[in-house]
Amino acid sequence: MAADKTFEAYESIAEESIARVITQPVRHLIGGERRSSLDGSTFENTSPVDYRPLGTIASASPADIDSAAQAAADAFEEWSRTPGKERKRILHRVADLIVENRDEIAAVECIDTGQAIRFMSEAALRGAENFRFFADHAPSASDGRSMPDQHHVNYSMRQPIGPVGVITPWNTPFMLSTWKIAPALAAGCTVVHKPAEWSPLTASLLSELALEAGLPAGVLNTVHGFGESAGKALTEHPLISAIAFVGESATGSLIQAQGAPTLKRVHFELGGKNPVIVFDDADLERALDAVAFMIWSLNGERCTSSSRVLIQSSIHDEFVAKLKERVATLPVGHPLDPTTVIGPLIHPVHCEKVRSYEAIARSAGADVTVGGLLSDRITLDDESCFVRPMLFSGAKNDMTISQEEIFGPVLTAILFEDEADAIRIANDVDYGLAGYLWTGDTGRAHRVARDLNAGMIWVNSQNVRHLPTPFGGVKASGIGRDGGPEFSFDFYMETKNVAIAYDTHSVPRLGG
Ligand code: NAD
Repeated sequence: MAADKTFEAYESIAEESIARVITQPVRHLIGGERRSSLDGSTFENTSPVDYRPLGTIASASPADIDSAAQAAADAFEEWSRTPGKERKRILHRVADLIVENRDEIAAVECIDTGQAIRFMSEAALRGAENFRFFADHAPSASDGRSMPDQHHVNYSMRQPIGPVGVITPWNTPFMLSTWKIAPALAAGCTVVHKPAEWSPLTASLLSELALEAGLPAGVLNTVHGFGESAGKALTEHPLISAIAFVGESATGSLIQAQGAPTLKRVHFELGGKNPVIVFDDADLERALDAVAFMIWSLNGERCTSSSRVLIQSSIHDEFVAKLKERVATLPVGHPLDPTTVIGPLIHPVHCEKVRSYEAIARSAGADVTVGGLLSDRITLDDESCFVRPMLFSGAKNDMTISQEEIFGPVLTAILFEDEADAIRIANDVDYGLAGYLWTGDTGRAHRVARDLNAGMIWVNSQNVRHLPTPFGGVKASGIGRDGGPEFSFDFYMETKNVAIAYDTHSVPRLGG
């Protein structure tokens, strides 16, 4: 486990960093300078742990977005021509600095988002890995293909698309930001990043580290603010060539419309209601661990969480009984406590939404199990952002609890009879991000993997990421893929073809 310090040690790391944030308001980073908003607007950030103030954050208006887009456009010419080896060196330096500062990044993330330190420590290191992975591909980012014809030699090359906008959500915000920003920078694009307003702090840490690593001014600009103003202005800005967005499906639709007049290229990683199918021939102990991990880690605020478990009828009751045991004993506590699994949810508004599904489940007739072991460091009441993890069993797939993305530590269990039934239920949702299946039958594993309507399938495994593989969803879960260079660079770069004649072909002569 990457969280190798005590609660007290993490607390003092977080306090030191937050003291800095509180005394010096968090400003935008535009053109290498810390700037307040042009109209002086700010918003207050608070911690979901105890609603303590976490500083005043600059709030961008379209004028600030314009400054940031201009700065990114000014920096583009030089950065896009910077040799790939040099981009690689600088991005590895960013990764080194992330590793050096991983405890601060993780602890601040916990206080800002409520996510538990045991997961945020890993997430900070994954941020460094993202930078290293794409840094290594920077020198070959522009490589193309040779396609000779009888009279011409054709070769293609890739060139960075231009300044890009990156808009990120509040669940694991640091790691997700690096997953978008690192390939953009490695490709030679410049970036304007608009982090989520509910979790602004680690984006500022990242921009500080990037400057310290020697990233030239204007190459990464971080602009804080609200989606409907700052985010919208970014998606509409004519100097921004593409938008890489991670967030809700409904926001993706808005962004597609907002970007249409300027013909933005878009890449969307959106919501999910991912099934995990457990067949009766599976290794049930491993399946149980994976099912529990994929919904009750990261507060269930995870796009790839397996929020619907489909269980074959012959093992259904036994498997549900074991899930009930698991949910009962999940430690709910302070996010900086290394024993905590479930911390507070991000914000009272989101917390209210997650809690509301308990009544929805009961009125639909599902069996509701409310679990969690409360730490004495916290108070769980209606006013707090802490929630108990839940299991809704005996559910039908057409219930709201089976169809809507709850985005909390809440699992819906559904019974199925056979393979065809499982596939039908699994696919019967608007989303199609990930699918998981547990079986001892190889042929069935291949059949079900083929027939599940999702962008990513894990067989006999939880979500274990291998960075070269394509990451993304179908249906309401997204457009496009991230991952190895052929996926991420295809988005952040344009492909150009050059045809050069051997001077052996005939050129038609018209007129005179
Ligand atoms: P959200 O869509 O509310 O917000 C995401 C970002 O978009 C924020 O920075 C927000 O300020 C901005 N935004 C909001 N309205 C905008 C607009 N009109 N124009 C431009 N920007 C706008 O999402 P959220 O609640 O922050 O995050 C949770 C969602 O993210 C869940 O649905 C989850 O599944 C999804 N998610 C998906 C993935 C994935 O890889 N598929 C990963 C993580 C999270």
